[in-house]
Amino acid sequence: MHANYGYKDGSGDFFIAIDTEKCGGCGDCVVACPAGVLELAEDDFHIDAEVDVAVVTKEHSKKIKYSCAPCKPSGYSMDDLPCVKPCAPKAIIHSW
Ligand code: SF4
Ligand code: SF4
Repeated sequence: MHANYGYKDGSGDFFIAIDTEKCGGCGDCVVACPAGVLELAEDDFHIDAEVDVAVVTKEHSKKIKYSCAPCKPSGYSMDDLPCVKPCAPKAIIHSW
């Protein structure tokens, strides 16, 4: 399933979705993120929760638009984001 982290405000939708079926818990996105937005945690959505998955920290999910802004200059490409680039199974999607 897609676990969504973020919020909507007057200027748009700001969500990071992590596909917990695809995420293998390698941690590469956690290491690559310069802002500490991501961490590994138990997958609450599966009964078989032996594999950790990437999640957005509570702290950053409330201000994700601002946390991710330095990675997103105008005209940026989603595939070039530091968190998306190393993710082989393409488990991370940004809504903006
Ligand atoms: S890089 Fe991809 S597969 Fe690895 S922990 Fe992050 S989201 Fe999961
Ligand atoms: S866009 Fe940048 S700050 Fe946001 S989660 Fe990805 S690597 Fe971290």
